[in-house]
Amino acid sequence: MPEISGLGVYVHVPFCASRCGFCVFYKEPPTRPAMERYLQCLRKEWQRKEGQGAGADTLFFGGGTPGVLTPHDFVRVTEALGIGITWQPREWTVEFSPSTVKREKLTILHELGATRISLGVQSFDECTLVALGRRQTTQQSLRAYELLREFSFSVNLDMMFHIPGQSLSSWMADLRMAVALGPDHISTYCLTGECGTPVGDGLHESWSLSGEKFYRQTWNFLRDKGFEHYEISNFARDGHRCQHNCNTWRMGEWLGLGPSAASQCRGRRFRNVDDLALWAQMEEQGLAAEEDIVFLTKFLLLQDRMIFGLRTADGFDECLLSRAEELGVADCGKLFQRWQEMGFVKKFAGNICPTERGMLVHDTLALEILSQSTFPFVSNT
Ligand code: SF4
Repeated sequence: MPEISGLGVYVHVPFCASRCGFCVFYKEPPTRPAMERYLQCLRKEWQRKEGQGAGADTLFFGGGTPGVLTPHDFVRVTEALGIGITWQPREWTVEFSPSTVKREKLTILHELGATRISLGVQSFDECTLVALGRRQTTQQSLRAYELLREFSFSVNLDMMFHIPGQSLSSWMADLRMAVALGPDHISTYCLTGECGTPVGDGLHESWSLSGEKFYRQTWNFLRDKGFEHYEISNFARDGHRCQHNCNTWRMGEWLGLGPSAASQCRGRRFRNVDDLALWAQMEEQGLAAEEDIVFLTKFLLLQDRMIFGLRTADGFDECLLSRAEELGVADCGKLFQRWQEMGFVKKFAGNICPTERGMLVHDTLALEILSQSTFPFVSNT
Protein backbone atom coordinates (compact mmCIF):
# COMPACT_ATOMS: atom_id res chain seq x y z
CA MET A 1 0.00 0.00 0.00
CA PRO A 2 1.38 3.49 -0.82
CA GLU A 3 2.15 5.75 2.13
CA ILE A 4 -0.95 7.40 3.52
CA SER A 5 -0.67 10.75 5.18
CA GLY A 6 -3.44 12.81 6.62
CA LEU A 7 -6.22 12.01 9.00
CA GLY A 8 -6.83 8.86 11.04
CA VAL A 9 -9.73 7.89 13.29
CA TYR A 10 -9.10 5.93 16.50
CA VAL A 11 -11.97 4.24 18.35
CA HIS A 12 -11.17 3.15 21.90
CA VAL A 13 -13.21 0.13 23.02
CA PRO A 14 -12.66 0.21 26.80
CA PHE A 15 -13.72 -3.33 27.74
CA CYS A 16 -11.65 -6.30 28.87
CA ALA A 17 -12.99 -9.56 30.25
CA SER A 18 -9.91 -9.84 32.49
CA ARG A 19 -7.00 -7.64 33.55
CA CYS A 20 -3.55 -8.58 32.33
CA GLY A 21 -0.91 -8.16 35.01
CA PHE A 22 1.19 -5.61 33.12
CA CYS A 23 -1.52 -3.39 31.65
CA VAL A 24 -2.00 0.29 32.39
CA PHE A 25 -4.66 0.99 29.75
CA TYR A 26 -8.08 2.15 30.82
CA LYS A 27 -10.64 -0.64 30.72
CA GLU A 28 -13.92 -1.77 32.27
CA PRO A 29 -15.65 -5.16 32.57
CA PRO A 30 -17.75 -5.84 29.43
CA THR A 31 -21.25 -5.84 30.93
CA ARG A 32 -24.09 -5.54 28.43
CA PRO A 33 -25.59 -2.35 29.95
CA ALA A 34 -22.17 -0.62 29.90
CA MET A 35 -21.55 -1.71 26.32
CA GLU A 36 -25.02 -0.50 25.22
CA ARG A 37 -24.40 2.91 26.74
CA TYR A 38 -20.94 3.03 25.17
CA LEU A 39 -22.30 2.24 21.70
CA GLN A 40 -25.02 4.89 21.97
CA CYS A 41 -22.55 7.53 23.18
CA LEU A 42 -20.03 6.70 20.48
CA ARG A 43 -22.71 7.68 17.96
CA LYS A 44 -23.38 10.88 19.92
CA GLU A 45 -19.68 11.77 20.03
CA TRP A 46 -19.37 11.30 16.27
CA GLN A 47 -22.45 13.46 15.69
CA ARG A 48 -21.27 16.14 18.15
CA LYS A 49 -17.99 16.28 16.25
CA GLU A 50 -20.04 16.58 13.05
CA GLY A 51 -18.36 13.58 11.52
CA GLN A 52 -14.99 15.40 11.46
CA GLY A 53 -13.26 12.09 10.82
CA ALA A 54 -15.29 11.21 7.71
CA GLY A 55 -12.90 10.82 4.81
CA ALA A 56 -10.05 9.65 7.04
CA ASP A 57 -7.55 7.37 5.35
CA THR A 58 -7.18 5.05 8.31
CA LEU A 59 -9.39 3.70 11.08
CA PHE A 60 -8.15 1.83 14.15
CA PHE A 61 -10.29 0.01 16.74
CA GLY A 62 -8.07 -0.38 19.81
CA GLY A 63 -8.57 -0.99 23.47
CA GLY A 64 -9.25 -2.53 25.75
CA THR A 65 -10.45 -5.44 23.67
CA PRO A 66 -12.49 -4.51 20.58
CA GLY A 67 -12.89 -8.25 20.07
CA VAL A 68 -15.45 -8.37 22.92
CA LEU A 69 -17.93 -6.57 20.65
CA THR A 70 -20.52 -8.82 19.01
CA PRO A 71 -20.95 -8.99 15.22
CA HIS A 72 -24.07 -6.81 15.61
CA ASP A 73 -22.09 -4.31 17.72
CA PHE A 74 -19.53 -3.99 14.91
CA VAL A 75 -22.37 -3.24 12.48
CA ARG A 76 -23.76 -0.60 14.85
CA VAL A 77 -20.39 1.16 15.26
CA THR A 78 -19.88 1.10 11.51
CA GLU A 79 -23.32 2.61 10.89
CA ALA A 80 -22.83 5.20 13.64
CA LEU A 81 -19.63 6.39 11.97
CA GLY A 82 -21.14 6.35 8.48
CA ILE A 83 -18.55 3.86 7.25
CA GLY A 84 -19.56 2.46 3.89
CA ILE A 85 -22.10 5.28 3.57
CA THR A 86 -20.16 8.55 3.59
CA TRP A 87 -16.60 7.18 3.72
CA GLN A 88 -14.52 4.04 3.66
CA PRO A 89 -11.02 3.95 5.21
CA ARG A 90 -8.25 2.52 3.06
CA GLU A 91 -6.74 0.82 6.11
CA TRP A 92 -8.96 -0.38 8.96
CA THR A 93 -7.35 -2.25 11.87
CA VAL A 94 -9.19 -4.11 14.62
CA GLU A 95 -7.35 -5.43 17.69
CA PHE A 96 -8.30 -8.86 18.97
CA SER A 97 -7.15 -10.94 21.89
CA PRO A 98 -6.93 -14.60 20.81
CA SER A 99 -9.84 -15.74 22.99
CA THR A 100 -12.23 -13.27 21.30
CA VAL A 101 -11.53 -14.32 17.70
CA LYS A 102 -14.66 -15.93 16.25
CA ARG A 103 -15.50 -16.72 12.64
CA GLU A 104 -18.77 -14.75 12.67
CA LYS A 105 -16.99 -11.58 13.89
CA LEU A 106 -14.31 -11.89 11.22
CA THR A 107 -16.93 -12.53 8.55
CA ILE A 108 -18.86 -9.39 9.39
CA LEU A 109 -15.72 -7.23 9.74
CA HIS A 110 -14.52 -8.47 6.38
CA GLU A 111 -17.86 -7.59 4.80
CA LEU A 112 -17.81 -4.16 6.42
CA GLY A 113 -14.38 -3.42 4.95
CA ALA A 114 -11.88 -4.02 7.78
CA THR A 115 -8.47 -4.69 6.23
CA ARG A 116 -6.15 -5.51 9.09
CA ILE A 117 -6.31 -7.54 12.33
CA SER A 118 -3.85 -7.12 15.18
CA LEU A 119 -3.71 -10.23 17.37
CA GLY A 120 -2.47 -9.84 20.96
CA VAL A 121 -0.44 -13.04 21.25
CA GLN A 122 2.38 -11.69 23.50
CA SER A 123 3.90 -15.17 23.91
CA PHE A 124 3.42 -18.79 22.85
CA ASP A 125 4.98 -20.02 26.09
CA GLU A 126 2.41 -21.05 28.72
CA CYS A 127 4.66 -20.04 31.66
CA THR A 128 5.26 -16.60 30.17
CA LEU A 129 1.52 -16.14 29.60
CA VAL A 130 0.94 -16.96 33.27
CA ALA A 131 3.67 -14.48 34.31
CA LEU A 132 1.88 -11.81 32.27
CA GLY A 133 -1.51 -12.67 33.73
CA ARG A 134 -2.93 -13.40 30.27
CA ARG A 135 -6.06 -15.52 30.27
CA GLN A 136 -5.31 -17.31 27.02
CA THR A 137 -3.57 -20.46 25.95
CA THR A 138 -1.07 -21.06 23.20
CA GLN A 139 -3.66 -23.29 21.55
CA GLN A 140 -6.12 -20.38 21.44
CA SER A 141 -3.54 -18.13 19.77
CA LEU A 142 -2.78 -20.76 17.13
CA ARG A 143 -6.47 -21.42 16.48
CA ALA A 144 -7.18 -17.68 16.26
CA TYR A 145 -4.37 -17.20 13.74
CA GLU A 146 -5.64 -20.13 11.67
CA LEU A 147 -9.11 -18.58 11.56
CA LEU A 148 -7.73 -15.15 10.60
CA ARG A 149 -5.94 -16.70 7.65
CA GLU A 150 -9.25 -17.90 6.23
CA PHE A 151 -9.84 -14.23 5.39
CA SER A 152 -7.77 -11.78 3.36
CA PHE A 153 -6.79 -9.55 6.29
CA SER A 154 -3.32 -8.20 6.75
CA VAL A 155 -2.33 -9.76 10.08
CA ASN A 156 -0.15 -8.36 12.85
CA LEU A 157 1.06 -10.35 15.85
CA ASP A 158 1.71 -8.37 19.03
CA MET A 159 4.58 -9.98 20.95
CA MET A 160 6.19 -9.03 24.26
CA PHE A 161 9.69 -9.58 25.64
CA HIS A 162 11.89 -8.97 28.68
CA ILE A 163 9.27 -10.55 30.93
CA PRO A 164 10.27 -11.82 34.40
CA GLY A 165 11.25 -15.47 34.13
CA GLN A 166 11.58 -15.29 30.35
CA SER A 167 15.05 -16.15 29.08
CA LEU A 168 16.47 -14.78 25.87
CA SER A 169 16.26 -18.26 24.34
CA SER A 170 12.60 -18.56 25.34
CA TRP A 171 11.89 -15.19 23.67
CA MET A 172 13.71 -16.25 20.52
CA ALA A 173 11.62 -19.45 20.47
CA ASP A 174 8.51 -17.23 20.64
CA LEU A 175 9.79 -15.16 17.72
CA ARG A 176 10.62 -18.23 15.65
CA MET A 177 7.10 -19.52 16.23
CA ALA A 178 5.63 -16.12 15.28
CA VAL A 179 7.63 -15.97 12.04
CA ALA A 180 6.79 -19.59 11.19
CA LEU A 181 3.09 -18.70 11.16
CA GLY A 182 3.73 -16.23 8.34
CA PRO A 183 2.21 -12.95 9.58
CA ASP A 184 2.43 -9.73 7.55
CA HIS A 185 3.57 -7.65 10.50
CA ILE A 186 5.06 -8.23 13.94
CA SER A 187 5.07 -5.73 16.80
CA THR A 188 7.58 -6.47 19.56
CA TYR A 189 7.12 -4.62 22.83
CA CYS A 190 9.54 -4.56 25.73
CA LEU A 191 7.84 -4.96 29.10
CA THR A 192 8.14 -1.62 30.84
CA GLY A 193 7.25 -2.85 34.33
CA GLU A 194 4.85 -0.04 35.21
CA CYS A 195 4.40 0.61 38.92
CA GLY A 196 0.87 -0.06 40.11
CA THR A 197 0.51 -3.22 38.01
CA PRO A 198 0.93 -6.72 39.53
CA VAL A 199 3.81 -7.50 37.15
CA GLY A 200 5.56 -4.14 37.61
CA ASP A 201 5.24 -4.16 41.40
CA GLY A 202 6.53 -7.74 41.60
CA LEU A 203 9.74 -7.13 39.65
CA HIS A 204 12.94 -8.26 41.29
CA GLU A 205 15.88 -5.81 41.55
CA SER A 206 17.90 -7.99 39.18
CA TRP A 207 15.43 -7.23 36.38
CA SER A 208 17.21 -4.58 34.36
CA LEU A 209 15.28 -1.85 32.68
CA SER A 210 17.02 -1.73 29.33
CA GLY A 211 16.47 -5.15 27.76
CA GLU A 212 19.18 -4.23 25.24
CA LYS A 213 20.23 -7.80 24.47
CA PHE A 214 16.60 -8.65 23.65
CA TYR A 215 16.36 -5.68 21.29
CA ARG A 216 19.50 -6.49 19.37
CA GLN A 217 18.69 -10.15 18.85
CA THR A 218 15.10 -9.35 17.91
CA TRP A 219 16.13 -6.79 15.32
CA ASN A 220 18.78 -9.01 13.74
CA PHE A 221 16.52 -12.04 13.65
CA LEU A 222 13.50 -10.34 12.11
CA ARG A 223 15.57 -8.46 9.54
CA ASP A 224 17.21 -11.76 8.55
CA LYS A 225 13.73 -13.22 8.09
CA GLY A 226 12.88 -10.50 5.57
CA PHE A 227 10.88 -8.11 7.72
CA GLU A 228 11.43 -4.39 7.29
CA HIS A 229 12.35 -2.81 10.61
CA TYR A 230 10.44 0.43 10.07
CA GLU A 231 9.94 1.57 13.67
CA ILE A 232 11.69 0.69 16.93
CA SER A 233 9.05 -1.92 17.83
CA ASN A 234 7.52 -2.68 14.44
CA PHE A 235 8.40 -4.96 11.55
CA ALA A 236 6.52 -5.39 8.28
CA ARG A 237 6.50 -7.49 5.18
CA ASP A 238 6.62 -5.41 2.03
CA GLY A 239 3.54 -3.14 1.80
CA HIS A 240 2.24 -4.00 5.29
CA ARG A 241 3.39 -1.10 7.44
CA CYS A 242 0.65 0.10 9.79
CA GLN A 243 -0.32 3.31 8.03
CA HIS A 244 -2.43 4.52 10.95
CA ASN A 245 0.56 4.49 13.26
CA CYS A 246 2.87 5.91 10.58
CA ASN A 247 0.53 8.91 10.34
CA THR A 248 0.79 9.54 14.09
CA TRP A 249 4.60 9.22 14.06
CA ARG A 250 4.68 11.78 11.22
CA MET A 251 2.52 14.07 13.37
CA GLY A 252 -0.48 13.95 11.06
CA GLU A 253 -3.98 14.39 12.51
CA TRP A 254 -6.09 11.83 14.31
CA LEU A 255 -9.50 11.95 15.87
CA GLY A 256 -10.05 9.77 18.94
CA LEU A 257 -13.49 8.51 19.98
CA GLY A 258 -14.49 6.82 23.23
CA PRO A 259 -13.20 7.17 26.80
CA SER A 260 -9.44 7.71 27.10
CA ALA A 261 -9.01 8.13 23.32
CA ALA A 262 -6.40 10.72 22.36
CA SER A 263 -6.82 13.21 19.50
CA GLN A 264 -4.60 15.58 17.59
CA CYS A 265 -6.64 17.67 15.22
CA ARG A 266 -7.68 21.21 14.36
CA GLY A 267 -4.76 22.73 16.23
CA ARG A 268 -5.27 20.85 19.49
CA ARG A 269 -4.00 17.71 21.19
CA PHE A 270 -6.18 16.25 23.95
CA ARG A 271 -7.57 13.10 25.53
CA ASN A 272 -11.06 12.01 26.45
CA VAL A 273 -11.40 11.27 30.17
CA ASP A 274 -10.44 7.79 31.45
CA ASP A 275 -13.92 7.23 32.78
CA LEU A 276 -16.68 5.51 30.83
CA ALA A 277 -19.50 6.82 33.05
CA LEU A 278 -18.29 10.44 32.98
CA TRP A 279 -17.57 10.36 29.24
CA ALA A 280 -21.04 8.91 28.58
CA GLN A 281 -22.76 11.38 30.88
CA MET A 282 -21.07 14.30 29.11
CA GLU A 283 -21.86 12.96 25.64
CA GLU A 284 -25.51 12.45 26.66
CA GLN A 285 -25.58 16.18 27.40
CA GLY A 286 -23.88 17.00 24.10
CA LEU A 287 -20.67 18.02 25.89
CA ALA A 288 -17.02 17.09 25.42
CA ALA A 289 -15.26 15.18 28.20
CA GLU A 290 -11.73 16.30 27.27
CA GLU A 291 -8.62 16.81 29.38
CA ASP A 292 -4.88 17.40 28.95
CA ILE A 293 -5.61 19.95 26.21
CA VAL A 294 -2.55 21.34 24.45
CA PHE A 295 -2.74 23.96 21.72
CA LEU A 296 -0.38 22.94 18.95
CA THR A 297 2.35 25.34 17.96
CA LYS A 298 4.81 25.15 15.07
CA PHE A 299 7.52 24.48 17.65
CA LEU A 300 5.69 21.68 19.38
CA LEU A 301 4.94 19.91 16.11
CA LEU A 302 8.51 20.40 14.91
CA GLN A 303 9.87 18.97 18.15
CA ASP A 304 7.56 15.96 18.02
CA ARG A 305 8.22 15.30 14.35
CA MET A 306 11.90 15.05 15.24
CA ILE A 307 11.37 12.90 18.35
CA PHE A 308 8.89 10.51 16.74
CA GLY A 309 10.75 10.58 13.42
CA LEU A 310 13.78 9.22 15.28
CA ARG A 311 11.69 6.18 16.24
CA THR A 312 11.25 5.33 12.55
CA ALA A 313 13.68 4.07 9.92
CA ASP A 314 12.55 6.91 7.64
CA GLY A 315 13.56 9.52 10.22
CA PHE A 316 12.50 13.06 9.39
CA ASP A 317 13.09 15.49 6.56
CA GLU A 318 16.45 17.23 6.92
CA CYS A 319 14.76 20.54 6.09
CA LEU A 320 13.25 20.47 9.61
CA LEU A 321 16.70 21.43 10.93
CA SER A 322 16.72 24.66 8.90
CA ARG A 323 13.06 25.26 9.79
CA ALA A 324 14.06 24.99 13.45
CA GLU A 325 16.83 27.52 12.90
CA GLU A 326 14.41 29.88 11.13
CA LEU A 327 12.22 29.61 14.20
CA GLY A 328 15.15 30.69 16.36
CA VAL A 329 16.67 27.35 17.41
CA ALA A 330 20.29 28.23 16.71
CA ASP A 331 21.99 25.01 17.87
CA CYS A 332 19.66 22.44 16.34
CA GLY A 333 21.97 21.65 13.39
CA LYS A 334 24.96 21.31 15.77
CA LEU A 335 23.08 18.89 17.99
CA PHE A 336 22.36 16.54 15.09
CA GLN A 337 25.88 16.98 13.69
CA ARG A 338 27.20 15.78 17.05
CA TRP A 339 24.82 12.80 17.02
CA GLN A 340 25.92 11.94 13.49
CA GLU A 341 29.56 11.92 14.63
CA MET A 342 28.61 9.74 17.60
CA GLY A 343 26.85 7.26 15.28
CA PHE A 344 23.31 7.85 16.52
CA VAL A 345 21.91 9.32 13.30
CA LYS A 346 22.78 9.28 9.62
CA LYS A 347 21.69 11.22 6.57
CA PHE A 348 19.83 9.25 3.93
CA ALA A 349 17.84 10.46 0.91
CA GLY A 350 17.38 13.93 2.36
CA ASN A 351 16.28 12.63 5.75
CA ILE A 352 17.88 12.40 9.18
CA CYS A 353 17.46 8.75 10.19
CA PRO A 354 18.36 6.90 13.37
CA THR A 355 21.04 4.24 13.26
CA GLU A 356 20.55 1.03 15.23
CA ARG A 357 22.59 2.61 18.05
CA GLY A 358 20.37 5.67 17.86
CA MET A 359 17.22 3.56 18.15
CA LEU A 360 18.65 1.83 21.21
CA VAL A 361 19.13 5.16 22.99
CA HIS A 362 16.04 6.84 21.58
CA ASP A 363 14.70 7.81 25.00
CA THR A 364 17.94 9.63 25.79
CA LEU A 365 17.93 11.45 22.44
CA ALA A 366 14.31 12.47 22.98
CA LEU A 367 15.12 13.82 26.43
CA GLU A 368 18.03 15.79 25.02
CA ILE A 369 15.80 17.35 22.37
CA LEU A 370 13.26 18.21 25.06
CA SER A 371 15.91 19.70 27.33
CA GLN A 372 17.50 21.96 24.73
CA SER A 373 17.03 25.30 26.41
CA THR A 374 17.36 26.97 23.03
CA PHE A 375 14.16 25.28 21.82
CA PRO A 376 11.35 27.74 22.50
CA PHE A 377 8.83 24.91 22.46
CA VAL A 378 6.29 26.56 24.64
CA SER A 379 5.99 29.57 22.37
CA ASN A 380 2.72 30.06 20.52
CA THR A 381 4.52 31.19 17.38
S1 SF4 B 1 -6.48 -7.33 26.97
FE1 SF4 B 1 -5.10 -5.63 26.43
S2 SF4 B 1 -6.10 -3.79 27.24
FE2 SF4 B 1 -7.09 -5.59 28.22
S3 SF4 B 1 -6.00 -5.85 30.16
FE3 SF4 B 1 -4.98 -7.18 28.65
S4 SF4 B 1 -3.33 -5.90 27.75
FE4 SF4 B 1 -4.74 -4.54 28.84
